Amino acid sequence: MKIAVLPGDGIGPEIVAQAVRVLNALGQKFDLEEAPVGGAAYDVAGHPLPPATLELAKKADAILFGAVGDWKYDALVRELRPEQAILGLRKHLELFANFRPAICYPELTAASSLKPEIIGGLDILIVRELNGDIYFGQPRGIRTSELPLFKGAREGFDTMHYSEPEVERIGRVAFEAARKRGKKVCSVDKANVLETSQLWREVMIRISKDYPDVELSHMYVDNAAMQLVKAPKAFDVVVTGNLFGDILSDEAAMLTGSIGMLPSASLDKNNKGLYEPSHGSAPDIAGKGVANPLATILSAAMMLRYSLGMPAEADRIEKAVQKVLAQGLRTADIYTEGTQKVSTVQMGDAVVAALS
Ligand code: NAD
Repeated sequence: MKIAVLPGDGIGPEIVAQAVRVLNALGQKFDLEEAPVGGAAYDVAGHPLPPATLELAKKADAILFGAVGDWKYDALVRELRPEQAILGLRKHLELFANFRPAICYPELTAASSLKPEIIGGLDILIVRELNGDIYFGQPRGIRTSELPLFKGAREGFDTMHYSEPEVERIGRVAFEAARKRGKKVCSVDKANVLETSQLWREVMIRISKDYPDVELSHMYVDNAAMQLVKAPKAFDVVVTGNLFGDILSDEAAMLTGSIGMLPSASLDKNNKGLYEPSHGSAPDIAGKGVANPLATILSAAMMLRYSLGMPAEADRIEKAVQKVLAQGLRTADIYTEGTQKVSTVQMGDAVVAALS
């Protein structure tokens, strides 16, 4: 199994190093090859996604990604900014399905801003379409308004659209995922206002006939935002478009307390994927040895499950993470009184030890 390892910027190299140690401790043969990405790649190759890095990502079975971005690149033109690397990888590899699990570990219930009875035991999966919607729709731009009331004023405009096959492929991904979990899909849209959403809903209903064992429900996005904080455990799999998913997945992430705990996967139609923590490069704590590596370690577990066909090894990693949390070990972001504060490397050590 060839794994492209792209650590990136900020805390990326520190947390990816721990995930690599955990993979190596599984006793399996992985062919891991590292390449620069983001600002680190700009520094050595003049581009955030150099051709050699893209080639490696294309030929690998899966990609383990850290994070990209740093304030020192803020002055660069948009095409050369570190964040373009992740957009480029999504586009070139046609990664259209983004999986963002939001799990609240019993030991970390106190880290959430919600009451324990509402959040305890939370285990939901947000499936977000990643390649379409208003983020990529044409036409878009800034022009002179023709509206009678604002004629002559500047106006910004974007176009929301989804084709039937685009909705169908993300819908099927969500139904398949639900089959392996709680067998419920909630499709989130804004069908009371948007034509794009009306088509989205029609397609979801049509394909649901192929999954009689999975219960389909629909929810408007504004209500979904409310229900996620009111009764998040009522959800199993939530499937939605790029824009709504962007917002809801961050909301769901924060329900669990720390962004340092949350993995993510972005998959193509053959389940090849890019695996990364949900958080960014955290330049404010880079190099201090305090970053939480668990989101990246759990991303590696997702990689084993979804792209490499190794669910038993994925289970081993997830159980090891639960074990270190139960032992009371915490990096600074999830530390509470009565627990033991550990560094990034010590957390990696503990997960490796817990594997056996
Ligand atoms: P961020 O997620 O990097 O950090 C937000 C806060 O969370 C910070 O206080 C940080 O210290 C903390 N944090 C994040 N990850 C942590 C971890 N593993 N352990 C402990 N604390 C952690 O978001 P930001 O500050 O808005 O962005 C910083 C940079 O990351 C920007 O350049 C942004 O563009 C980039 N970014 C990259 C990605 C990606 O690579 N996919 C995603 C989001 C943001």
